[in-house]
Amino acid sequence: MGSLRRVAIIGSSLAGIHAAEALRKAGYDSTITMVGEEQHLPYDRPPLSKQLLSGSWDTPRIQLRPHDVIEGLSLDWRRGQPAIALDPDAREVELQDASIVEYDALLVTTGTKPRSLPVPLGLTGVHTLRTLDDALAIRAALDAMPRVVVVGGGFIGAEVGAEARRRGLGVTMVEALPRPLSRGLGDHMGEICGELHVAHGVDLRCGVTVRGFAGEGRLERVALDDGTVVEADLAVVGVGSEPATKWLETSGLEIDNGVVCDAFCRASAPGVYAAGDVARWHHPMTDELGRVEHWTNAREQAVAAVATLLADHDHPGARMLTAYAPVPYVWSDQYGSRIQVAGWTGGSDEVSVHRDAELGTTVALYRFGDRLGGVAGINATRRLLPLRRMVADRAGWDEALAAAAV
Ligand SMILES: Cc1cc2nc3c(=O)[nH]c(=O)nc-3n(C[C@H](O)[C@H](O)[C@H](O)COP(=O)(O)OP(=O)(O)OC[C@H]3O[C@@H](n4cnc5c(N)ncnc54)[C@H](O)[C@@H]3O)c2cc1C
Repeated sequence: MGSLRRVAIIGSSLAGIHAAEALRKAGYDSTITMVGEEQHLPYDRPPLSKQLLSGSWDTPRIQLRPHDVIEGLSLDWRRGQPAIALDPDAREVELQDASIVEYDALLVTTGTKPRSLPVPLGLTGVHTLRTLDDALAIRAALDAMPRVVVVGGGFIGAEVGAEARRRGLGVTMVEALPRPLSRGLGDHMGEICGELHVAHGVDLRCGVTVRGFAGEGRLERVALDDGTVVEADLAVVGVGSEPATKWLETSGLEIDNGVVCDAFCRASAPGVYAAGDVARWHHPMTDELGRVEHWTNAREQAVAAVATLLADHDHPGARMLTAYAPVPYVWSDQYGSRIQVAGWTGGSDEVSVHRDAELGTTVALYRFGDRLGGVAGINATRRLLPLRRMVADRAGWDEALAAAAV
């Protein structure tokens, strides 16, 4: 491939900033254009539903890097400027202000957007949570002591519900599946997490969906499809997210629930790479395309994509390439409990749950065939560490059961 003088990174958040740092660390000293639709400097998202929402941290604490470190990266910043189109043949990205960014290599790190409900969300008091501005708005709304409905019992909904209960607010959680968190943890662990919410006073409604939000100008009621109506002043909708690829629709790039990439984070057009929540890449461990919406992955995949980008352009800072094959990892904090998941859980053949009432820990093992495919834990950080390694090593099921029993 040709020379490397202009790298463009679209999406100036976690994966974006890690990619820029990886480029500079490898000795790449030419142009990095960093395009971000948000006005804010890069900030961290996990605290948005935890410390920032509770008010124990404020905005400066969640900045990913101090100003001087960002300045040291010598970026050509385009802040508050969404990319609106890509022409991979001309190697050009068009921004909303009609300016054009030319590149030799392009890294797409545009993350995800909250998924919508099939009902209008337009009323004041109905929120989604993805950005700092979303979190500040929800925090301000919580300060007014509202009656809260959380729509969706995934990680974000569960964390918002837990924070609202910590404030002593009435919380109804509406989950379409029979149990909260079961998409990420499976039914058995989802049941245990549901019990945690109920024990903390959440009115948990499972197997129902929202028919509509109603009120005079602002939210007053949430109608559910079982015919019940919940009085509410604040609704937070956390029903999953979708890859932010709308701007790539006319590019000809292969898009299928994310930017489709090979095992080295290369997208379908020469010189284009993707990393983080938006990337759906060929994972060598599963031999399938997969997308991971976790913090650890965004950091690690950005570095992996930069390694490929440098190698493809024969850059002197390039290193030997290996396929990107991480064991996915995510954590969530609810009511002072830490939930952690490593590896794969969905579609497992068996789940084995080990609860230690004395220590207050729970560990779940997920079997795929005769191997350990994933692990999850509640307040079990230390017990999980060796089990995470066993997932990476594709340990046998019996060996994993023996390790979990220790
Ligand atoms: C509230 C919340 C809590 C979370 N908690 C946890 C947790 O506890 N543990 C965990 O592992 N993960 C957690 N996550 C997930 C984690 O934050 C993400 O996996 C991570 O932020 C992904 O990084 P990214 O850089 O790929 O994408 P993002 O952080 O989404 O960044 C993408 C950036 O691209 C920008 N962008 C989008 N479209 C365009 C465009 N067309 N042009 C220019 N810029 C664009 C966006 O505005 C955004 O700034 C949480 C996420 C949220 C929202």
